Amino acid sequence: MSGKERLPVRGAQGDLLRLVANGHAESRAELARLSGLAASSVSLRVEELIDTGLLVEEGSGTSRGGRRPRRLQVSSTAGVLAVADLGAHHARLGLLDLSGTPLVVEERPCDIALGPEATLDWMAASFDELLLAHGPSGAPLRGVGTGIPGPVDPASGRVVSPSRMPGWNNFPVAEYLDARYGLPVLVENDANLLAVGEARAWPGCDNLMVLKAGSGIGCGVIVNGRLHRGRGAAGDISHVRVRTDSSVMCSCGHPDCLEAYASGAALMSALAEQGIAVRRPADLVALVDDGVPEATALIRNAGRLIGEVLTVLVNFLNPDAIVVGGSLSTAEPLISSIRAAVYERCLPLATRDLEIAVTRSGPDAALLGAGSLLLDTVLS
Ligand SMILES: [Zn+2]
Repeated sequence: MSGKERLPVRGAQGDLLRLVANGHAESRAELARLSGLAASSVSLRVEELIDTGLLVEEGSGTSRGGRRPRRLQVSSTAGVLAVADLGAHHARLGLLDLSGTPLVVEERPCDIALGPEATLDWMAASFDELLLAHGPSGAPLRGVGTGIPGPVDPASGRVVSPSRMPGWNNFPVAEYLDARYGLPVLVENDANLLAVGEARAWPGCDNLMVLKAGSGIGCGVIVNGRLHRGRGAAGDISHVRVRTDSSVMCSCGHPDCLEAYASGAALMSALAEQGIAVRRPADLVALVDDGVPEATALIRNAGRLIGEVLTVLVNFLNPDAIVVGGSLSTAEPLISSIRAAVYERCLPLATRDLEIAVTRSGPDAALLGAGSLLLDTVLS
């Protein structure tokens, strides 16, 4: 069973370890070039990192002529990160090594409406089970991170005015986890985690808008290769007002928010009013795949409304790509309606090279994003 301890690194050591963990460097020479430190300083710190068991140096690296450099790797026993992506009814939970590679990932049913303490205690108990069954022997837990399906204040790690999360408003998630673990903690909006994880699958695209279309609707923004948080609310498109013939009150108390028409929760209740009951957004996609016209019409309308909101944002930010993830993203009419709205209304220069596509990085993208951000916290 793994112990829990803080990582014994100082600033520059953390920077070097991060370069190796992220795959940017695998030799002392590359570390010196990328860090700007003198070769002798790099060697001293690398020796310290090897002595503390965090790095190993073995085999031969890629030859660049002359003597082959010895290859640096993060030790498999350097530690593990426990990460989760909490959804309304399901959570994905995983253990990653310090290079961000998943050791185990599981999806489990959960009910976020039980409130923060019950949900976070359940998450911690699930982490304990995963560590017991899959934690590498001798590798301590180094940090804990979770995605939240609502707005998160990055400074305090508190949830702020979420929809469909009773009892969570202003709850200090980071403080609660810190009290339990005494380790570096990451608490982040789920769409932001998805954006960070997805960005790894888009090399050469430094500006991305990553939409999460599930029970709720969110968006993470990558600018110049980095997550753009603003003061925490950046990318939150759920309460942008949309143009419709009817009028629906949103949970925020304003009429006609995007969320009130295009989120999975809104689509499911609209479908229920037509006498078709489904329990999860994925069930809605199955109805679309089966050609149920009520479901297809609702999804198509959702795509049009999302596309109209994105039109403004595409003109403003001019991203390289819009990537659609979340449980509704596999509904083909959703993507085609988003494309139609954006290509019709955006400036030609904004859409000339714009790609609008379904997520490339698979169901673990948010966990990989959590691992990447959490490693930054652990090593900073
Ligand atoms: Zn609203």
